[in-house]
Amino acid sequence: MPEAFVRRAAYDYRTLKPVVFEMMEALGGARIRKKSSVLIKPNFLLPARPERAVTTHPLILRAVAEYVLDRQGRPFIADSPAVGPFRRLVREGGYREALQGLDVEMKAFSVSKKADIGRPFGAVELAEEALEAHVVINCAKLKTHSQMLLTLGVKNLFGCVIGLKKSEWHLRSGVNRERFAQLLVQIHNRIAPAMTLIDGILALEGHGPGKGGSPKPLGVLVGSRQAVWADAAVCRMLRLPPQRLPTLAAAQQLGFSIDPLTLSGDGVGRISLVLPERVPLSFGPRRFQGLIRKHLVQRPVVAVPRCKQCAECVSFCPAKAVTLSGKAVAFDYDRCIRCYCCIEVCPHGALKAAETPPGRLLRRVRERLAN
Ligand code: SF4
Ligand code: SF4
Repeated sequence: MPEAFVRRAAYDYRTLKPVVFEMMEALGGARIRKKSSVLIKPNFLLPARPERAVTTHPLILRAVAEYVLDRQGRPFIADSPAVGPFRRLVREGGYREALQGLDVEMKAFSVSKKADIGRPFGAVELAEEALEAHVVINCAKLKTHSQMLLTLGVKNLFGCVIGLKKSEWHLRSGVNRERFAQLLVQIHNRIAPAMTLIDGILALEGHGPGKGGSPKPLGVLVGSRQAVWADAAVCRMLRLPPQRLPTLAAAQQLGFSIDPLTLSGDGVGRISLVLPERVPLSFGPRRFQGLIRKHLVQRPVVAVPRCKQCAECVSFCPAKAVTLSGKAVAFDYDRCIRCYCCIEVCPHGALKAAETPPGRLLRRVRERLAN
């Protein structure tokens, strides 16, 4: 039966460790056998201090690694950050200090292996370490996401697609959130994490999932044996209908049941976050869709004073729609597929998704007509 646990928690190791240990026991930690290789998969989007709430907090990773070591497993922490060298992420995120004294390796995924995730996508190149670990513990972060509304447990596994292959898959999914959500669920299914923990102690709201978002203390850890159920638990606490989260809608279409979902633990209760404004990416007659997308559909915009012209967005953009220009960047909105990878990777929080004035007017008219 679908179930998830929600515990109140803080980044104070003395109180955090027993909470994480209890949750791991409840989520089936007994599956970790002596000498099992255990991948702890964090959200390591980009180098950021823990107080920016962009990455999974280092003390959560420490507690999970200690639990695995207690069970005589062999833990390693690995991910493929979208931006910056891995060693910088480890230093800036405080992971080196937090994991000091523990026999746990931290590394960037480096070798891809083709894995069939099923139709219509077929073979996807995924991190070999993730495919071959005996147990995967998915340690996600509770954050908003300009393209997918929230990034929780299911989406966290997209980090098993290494480096710029991520942007290739964005491009293949095109201007279609539903298709991208289906890709995410099928990658999640292939990795098949044994348990998922979502760090919502300090969450991220607004223009997440990168540095454009704003930290928001929620004081909760959410856990489940199924990432889909953990994500559904977060939606329930946000009072967000599951159909509004594209990955949950896709998971249900692919056969996951989230009803009835049982929530237990002292953290169960209402939480609130400022969610990104999400509007349809395509509408209207097919032959006018190029024009509609150019002039009416929400798009990435730059806050010129914040842009440092580091070109991270230029190199990550799957559609080659961003160029350095003047004191900031310029977008080719004809080419742009609205994947918002640029917002995600900008190390200076200089980008956000914004509606055009005519697009906002049209949306309000459509909403009024719909009511
Ligand atoms: S918008 Fe951000 S990522 Fe792009 S060049 Fe400017 S600072 Fe760098
Ligand atoms: S400009 Fe940004 S939103 Fe548009 S395709 Fe490139 S990365 Fe995606």
